[in-house]
Amino acid sequence: FQSKLPHLGTSIFTEMSLMANQFQAINLSQGFPEFDTPAFLKSAIKQVIDEGKNQYCPSAGLPELLQQIGDLVQRCYIKDAARKLDALNTITVTSGATEALMVAIQTLVRPGDEVIVFDPAYDAYEPAVELAGGRCRHIAMNAPDYAIDWSLVKQAINDKTRAIVINSPHNPTGTLLGQSDLLALQQMVLEHELYVISDEVYEHMTFDGQAHESVLAYPELFQRSFVISSFGKTFHCTGWKLGYCVAPEALTTEFRKIHQYVTFCSFTPAQFAVASMLKNHPQHVDELSGFYQQKRDVLVAALADSRFKVLPSKGTYFLLLDYSAISDLDDVAFCHWLTQDIGVAAIPLSPFYQAEILEVYHQKHKVVRLCFAKNDATLLKAAEILCQL
Ligand code: PMP
Ligand code: GLN
Repeated sequence: FQSKLPHLGTSIFTEMSLMANQFQAINLSQGFPEFDTPAFLKSAIKQVIDEGKNQYCPSAGLPELLQQIGDLVQRCYIKDAARKLDALNTITVTSGATEALMVAIQTLVRPGDEVIVFDPAYDAYEPAVELAGGRCRHIAMNAPDYAIDWSLVKQAINDKTRAIVINSPHNPTGTLLGQSDLLALQQMVLEHELYVISDEVYEHMTFDGQAHESVLAYPELFQRSFVISSFGKTFHCTGWKLGYCVAPEALTTEFRKIHQYVTFCSFTPAQFAVASMLKNHPQHVDELSGFYQQKRDVLVAALADSRFKVLPSKGTYFLLLDYSAISDLDDVAFCHWLTQDIGVAAIPLSPFYQAEILEVYHQKHKVVRLCFAKNDATLLKAAEILCQL
């Protein structure tokens, strides 16, 4: 059998979580919360199921959920009161951000097209581009601050370039794109008639008073964009696999054609429950950054006396640690050793890089990712172990 994705194996998240379980290590590898989804959401979904709302909903999503998402987007990002988002025609509910990414990429990418991604890049982008017959052009973000050099992007654009994928707040580095990044992106996208896939799943987790710069706040840029988010992150329910994509009406029409034949619609009870949560507890979204900033601070403070160098985390629930003072191992070997022998599981960064970029990267960088969406006691226990290295 000839594989369509011959170079792919199991994802690094699956691999490290399995290893964490096998060796009973504290699992700070795969990104998911240790704590539960809010009680309101749990009782809401139980009630919805008991009430018998268990059949298909409209393919694009439950209208009341589309409306709630529209209100949220309007409140968070659309400062111009005259600009009204048409929720019913621009938002599509998907089975996680993963489905939204896959569908947006299938909507856009044609055989031979190039898509620009920034390394370290989340692992879902490239396989989706390849399945569409396109290829990724990888541009490295500059370590240690992981900024994007837009002059490199300009150089990479050619007549095959179709789209640029951005991700802010950024997994795995915890960096944020600023206004100047969005303006540079907008300029290139408009000039070369490109499209944007903006992965904003950590949009409600930004720290130290910094606001998230959403593509939704830039009307001209939004005209050529698919903006993707996930309730799994926002409401601590990664297993519910509920996300959404916001795109202009013409792009949404095409997106929905594919979504219709990938899943038809996403899990109906979760859509009712999340709509009710957004309506009745709007403050949850506003409090999330503070909630995760406190967790970041607990972990950073507890690692202060370690030999790891803690890199700044400005958003997401991830923190990068430079281990060059501790070991010469490469990052995959280091994570295996950390999990098996030390009892803390982390994620290496190298699987987020293209091989060519990695050769240079490896010589210079020794960095792993920890997830701090964990109870404080878990974070303190892990830090105590790491401080002994
Ligand atoms: N994009 C990024 C950057 C992510 O970290 C994740 C979740 N790990 C996803 C997309 C996928 O989100 P979901 O679980 O809603 O499919
Ligand atoms: N996004 C999660 C992470 O970065 C993993 C999701 C998955 O396992 N696919 O850890």
